[in-house]
Parts: sequence; structure tokens; C-alpha cells
Amino acid sequence: MKKDITIVGAGLVGSLCALYMIRRGYKVTIFERRKDLRSEIITAGKSINLALSERGWTALKKVGIDKEVKKIAIPMYKRIMHDKEGNLSEQPYGNEGEAIYSVSRAQLNVLMMEMAEKNGAKLYFNEKCVDANLEEAIATFNNTKTDTEQEISADLLIGADGSLSAVREQMVKKHHHEYEYNEIEHDYKELLIPSVDNGTHLLDKNALHIWPRGNFMLIALANLDGSFTCTLFAPKKGRNSFEGLNSKQEVENYFTSIFPDFISLVPDLYQQWNANPTSGLGIVKTYPWHIKDTSILIGDAAHATVPFYGQGMNAGFEDCRILDKLLDKNEDNFETCFDEYSKSRKLNGDGVQDLSMHNFIVMRDKTADAKFLLQKEIEKKFSNLYPDKWTPLYSMVSFTNTPYAEAWEIGMKQEKLMQSIMTTPNIEKIWESDEIMQKMYSLV
Ligand SMILES: Cc1cc2nc3c(=O)[nH]c(=O)nc-3n(C[C@H](O)[C@H](O)[C@H](O)COP(=O)(O)OP(=O)(O)OC[C@H]3O[C@@H](n4cnc5c(N)ncnc54)[C@H](O)[C@@H]3O)c2cc1C
Repeated sequence: MKKDITIVGAGLVGSLCALYMIRRGYKVTIFERRKDLRSEIITAGKSINLALSERGWTALKKVGIDKEVKKIAIPMYKRIMHDKEGNLSEQPYGNEGEAIYSVSRAQLNVLMMEMAEKNGAKLYFNEKCVDANLEEAIATFNNTKTDTEQEISADLLIGADGSLSAVREQMVKKHHHEYEYNEIEHDYKELLIPSVDNGTHLLDKNALHIWPRGNFMLIALANLDGSFTCTLFAPKKGRNSFEGLNSKQEVENYFTSIFPDFISLVPDLYQQWNANPTSGLGIVKTYPWHIKDTSILIGDAAHATVPFYGQGMNAGFEDCRILDKLLDKNEDNFETCFDEYSKSRKLNGDGVQDLSMHNFIVMRDKTADAKFLLQKEIEKKFSNLYPDKWTPLYSMVSFTNTPYAEAWEIGMKQEKLMQSIMTTPNIEKIWESDEIMQKMYSLV
């Protein structure tokens, strides 16, 4: 008989996980707290957008939905930096043709829920998980429309219910799993650059735009309808913070003095400022990620991170692919598989969190630093000369499936080596020379 799987959460990772489990021959039922937003979201057109990169694509490809997703994705080949005078400079993300992709989170979620349903998953909406017996794979759901409760029993319960996971809460409460939440000092707010009348983008749509300003920044990613979703990441308090940005004058002064070329693109800035919430950001750490052979966590529920490497969803998609691989390896023996999944993925959950915090500094500060940009040029040249000796950290994370923990470790070693190369006298002039390339070769 087919084993029954209950997935809590029809988000990006829950929907992809459903596709993987159906492919393995399991019967999958998904319970989602929100209402079925599918038709509404499609017509709304505007929403948070995410950067989808190689490991995300690898996981989508394995279940055959990468081509469908590509139809709603916009390639971004480079970063474009906007300085305080409105001057632009750019930095390619990788070699020619290499790109990360801007995708609307809502549109992608709709597509993936539809794929999961089409392939045989049953989806129930307005069902909020409020309790669980994790050793028996029984979850209790409260129907938010009728306020009635039901218990759902299965062979396996998968918590794909995001950073505030109810499944994780039960693991911590009843099984004393480790848990830590660390909120960072920065909040974020979304703003929209509208398209011009005919749906044309006001900025280069094939780039991720950054306004780096030291310890804070603004970014913009293109949408298919010609608009850009922008996010301001700024401190909660103190200089250049959200604090004190209340009146129209205060908000407009802030943007005019700090992001002058941005404010001219957003005529209704103050309306948007008031309408859109300011939200916090944080890192979730928990361990283990499973109970026996009956319950596991996946995606943000296990390892929510800050969004600065654009890897949260990619990491969750990778969880699905690795879980599937481990099920193959362990011939669907859940207990041995989950034990290995917990141990190996936890290291990479920590890895993606370290990388994300590191990239916040790179994006908000280093992308405006000529020496850093030169360092990246040198790394790129060396990597093209000796591809088996060096893959730049950004490429390792975004254009390969190298485990995050490994990428982080290699990246830190590279950084140390580059610090010594960058102290070479006259490096600005001689960086392309054989001498520098050979020096790097000898140090690697
Ligand atoms: C500003 C911002 C920018 C980001 N940018 C990127 C990016 O560029 N690239 C990237 O890879 N990642 C990015 N991320 C991270 C990414 O959004 C998440 O990692 C991803 O959405 C995680 O997917 P998930 O399915 O695990 O969780 P979620 O997307 O949170 O989905 C969880 C689902 O579970 C449901 N749920 C929650 N609780 C319950 C319950 N009790 N009962 C039933 N259902 C429940 C929720 O309604 C939701 O549908 C960004 C995040 C933020 C905040």
C-alpha cells in the first residue's frame, strides 16, 4: 500500500517537496493555512520577487518543471550599482551567459501548487496546523473559516510551514530540540518602481540594481510586467534608519539625499511608504530536523535565513533534492534516511546562514569599494586561467551545487589568500600580469 504523507504548508518548498514525494510513489496531502490565492495572485501581478539560481534550477529540473518556471523568470547577468550622484557602474555575476533569475514569489508559488495538484497531490486551504503528535505523524488542523478542528493521521509528517513553523514548535516543545532565533538590526520595506505605459522597464531589467550605502542599501529586481520590486534594508534605529521616517517630508528628504536617481522613478513614494509594512529579518537555527521515521522539517522551517545571498528558497529546493537522493540511497528506509538528512543538511543550513550574513556586507558596502571590485576581477581572471583551481565564492554559491558548508569554508580560505595578494605593491597596475597569476597559483 502507498504510504501517506502529510505536508504542512503549500509554500514554495512544500509544493516542490510534494512533487518529489509523488514521484517516489507516495500519496501526498498538503494543508495550507492561507486561503487559495491562486486566481487572485495571478491577476495581482505585483509581489516580492526572488533570485533563483543554479541549485534551485537543479532541484526543479529533477522533477521536470524547470522549463515551465523559466517562462516566468527574467535573467540577471550583472549587478548595477547606483552611487549617490546617480552614476552607474556594473559587475557581471559570472562568465558570459551566467545569470541568476528574478521570479515573482507569488507567481512561482501558484505555478508550483498547480503542478503539485496536477501530479496528484491533494491540497486543502484555510487549514492551520495547531498541534502535532510527531511520533505518530498526526497533525491537528484548525479550519480558519469554520473554526473546526480535525486530526490527520499519516505515515510521515513534513513541516514545510516556513520560519514560524508550527511543526518545529512541537519538536522544540515536546522533544526539546535545540532552537534559536536571532533577529538582525535591519528591517526591510518593499517599494515598487512602476513600468512606463507600454510595460517598458525604467531600468535595465537584466540586472540586479543595488544602491549600496555602507551599512544599508536599496535593491531592485525586475518583474515581467515592466515594474521593479525594490527593497530598502536599513537599520531599525540610529543614523539612516527607519526611525524618524514618518512624515512625507522626512521620507522624501531621506530618498532625495540618499537615493536621488531612485526617487524620480517612484512618483507615489509616500503612499507606498505608508501602505507597505516594515518587516524584521532573522535567522532560525534548530536541531535535529526530524523525529524518528515519522516527522521532518524542510525549507525555512528548518533553516530560515536573511535574504542577502538570495538563497533561502534555493536552499529549501536543494533540501527536497537531497532528501530524495537520500531516500534512494537508503531504499526508502525513513529512519536511517532522516538521520542522515538531519545531520548533513544542518551543516549546510548553517553554511547558507553564514554566507547570507557575509553577503550583506558585500552588497551594502563592498560593491561600492574599488579595491573589492578589483579583487573580484583578479579572482575571475585566475579562475578563467585555472578553472580547476579556483571558483569564485559567488559563482560557487550561485552557479554550482557545491554544498553550502563547503563553499563557505573554501570562500574563507580564498579571502585570506586574496588579502595577501591585494597587499602587493602597485596591484592596481600589475594585477593582470603573469607574476600575480603565478603568485596566486603558488599560494592556492
Ligand atoms: C525580503 C525577502 C527576500 C528574499 N529573497 C530571496 C531570494 O532572492 N532568493 C531566495 O532563494 N530566497 C529569498 N528569500 C527567502 C525565501 O522567500 C524563503 O526561503 C522561501 O520562501 C522559503 O520557502 P518555504 O516554503 O520553506 O516557506 P514559506 O515560503 O514561508 O512557506 C510556508 C508556507 O506554510 C504556510 N504555513 C505557515 N504556518 C502554517 C501552519 N501553522 N499551518 C499550515 N500552513 C502554514 C504558509 O502560509 C506558507 O504558505 C527572501 C525572503 C525575504 C523575506
